[in-house]
Amino acid sequence: RKLADQLGVSRNTVVRAYTELEAEGLIAGKMGSGRYVEPLPPLPAFSRVDWRSQHYEYLHASPSHMEELLSVTDRYPDTINFAHGDGGRHTIFESGLMEHVKRAAERSPSYFFTSVQGLPELREHLIKWMAFAQISSPDQVCVTSGSQEGLYLITTLLARQGDCIVTEMPTYFGSLQLFQSLGMQIIPVPVDRDGMRIDVLEGILARSRPRFIYTVPTFHNPTGSTLSLVRRKQLLSISEKYGIPIVEDDAYRHLHLDKEAPPALKELDLCGNVIYLNTFSKMLFPGLRIGWVAASRPFIQRMARLRELTISTSTLNQYALASFLHDGALRPHLARVTRQYANQAERMESHLRPLRALGLNYEKPDGGFYFWISLPEGMKVRSLMQTCHEAGVSITSGDMFLLREAEQPFIRLCYTHEDIDQIDAGMSILTRILSSQKEV
Ligand code: PMP
Repeated sequence: RKLADQLGVSRNTVVRAYTELEAEGLIAGKMGSGRYVEPLPPLPAFSRVDWRSQHYEYLHASPSHMEELLSVTDRYPDTINFAHGDGGRHTIFESGLMEHVKRAAERSPSYFFTSVQGLPELREHLIKWMAFAQISSPDQVCVTSGSQEGLYLITTLLARQGDCIVTEMPTYFGSLQLFQSLGMQIIPVPVDRDGMRIDVLEGILARSRPRFIYTVPTFHNPTGSTLSLVRRKQLLSISEKYGIPIVEDDAYRHLHLDKEAPPALKELDLCGNVIYLNTFSKMLFPGLRIGWVAASRPFIQRMARLRELTISTSTLNQYALASFLHDGALRPHLARVTRQYANQAERMESHLRPLRALGLNYEKPDGGFYFWISLPEGMKVRSLMQTCHEAGVSITSGDMFLLREAEQPFIRLCYTHEDIDQIDAGMSILTRILSSQKEV
C-alpha cells in the first residue's frame, strides 16, 4: 500500500506488477512475509559458439560412409554400379508395387497420419509374414523408416554413450557408423564361413557386459556367410546365460540362392531375448523406406514412444505396401527375383573365377547380395576404388565394414543391382584394372 501511495497508483496495480515480476523469476515471494527482491541465480556458463559449425563429438568423428556410398551415383551417374546394395531398377518395376502406390494415392486415408507404430493393416500382414518368428500380435511390431531407423531406435533405447555393443567384424557399415556416431564402444567378433565365432564371443562375455549383440546371421553383409544352426543355438544359450539381448538384422533372409536360410534366431528363441529387425529395402527397394522391428510388447511400447518423436513412416507407402501384401504379390515377386539374382551371381562369379590367379579370393554366398573378395596384400583398395569409379564402374572398399583398415584389403561387389549385360561390362573393366595393378 505504501508503494502504491508513493507512486500514486492503485494497490491492485502494484500487486499485478509484483505477480508478473515473480512469474518471470525476478523476485521471490514467501507466504506470510510478503515479496522481496533477491539476487538472481547465476546463469549456467555459456560460451558463445557459432551454431552453424557446432560439432557433436562422436557424430563428426565417425566416418560418413553412408553419404560417401550414396553419392557415388551423383558423382558418376553413368557408372556400372556394384557398390549399392539393392535389387536394381528391373526388380522395382517388375514387382508391380507402383500400381499399389497409385491405388494408395487414390485412397484418401493415405493422405493422413496413421498410428506411430505403423498402419494396423500393414502390421497384420507383417505378423502373418513372420508366422515363423512367434510373433502373434500387431502390438509386438513397430514399423520404421527402413531398418536403419529401427536399429537407431533400438540402440537409443538399450544403450548410452560409452556403453559396449558386440557385433560381427566385418559388419554392415551403416550399423558401424550408427554405433560410432552415438559414442558406443564396439567389441568386434570375427566371422568365418559359419558366421559369428561364438567361441570368441564366449570369451568376450566372460570379461565385459555389452548392452546387446548385433548380428546379421543370415546371408551376412558383407561376407555372405550364414550362422550355422549349431551356432544359432549356442548364441541363444549365451544370450540367456548372460541376460544380453540379441538384435537380429534379417534383411536378406528371403533372398537365398540355392539353399533356403536356416531358422531365424527369433524363431528358435524361447526366452524372448531376440529383437527382430527386417526391411523391404532388399526384398523390394530401399526408397520405399519401410522396415520393422518385432519384439516383446513392453519393448515395442517403449519404442513407439520414441518413434512418436518423429511421427511415423510415410502413410502413403504403408498403404501401398499393405495393398501389395494383401494381394499376395510378395511371394511370387521373391520367387522371380531370387531366380534372377542366382543368374546374376553366377555371371559375376564366372568373371571372378579367373581372378583367383591374380591372388583374389572369395567364397560364393548362399544368398544376399554380395561377393566379399580379398585382394592381394599391399594392394591399395582406396585408390583401386577411385580408379574403378573413373573408369565407369563403382565398387565398395572393404574398410567401410571394418573398424580399422585390415592388412588384407577387401572389396565388396553387389551382384543384384546390374543386369547380366552390365555385369559383363563392369567385370571386364574391373578385370582390366586389377590385372594392370598386379603388373605394377
Ligand atoms: N541392415 C543390413 C544388414 C543392410 O545391409 C542394410 C542396407 N544395406 C540395412 C540394414 C539398412 O536397410 P534400410 O534401407 O531398411 O534402412
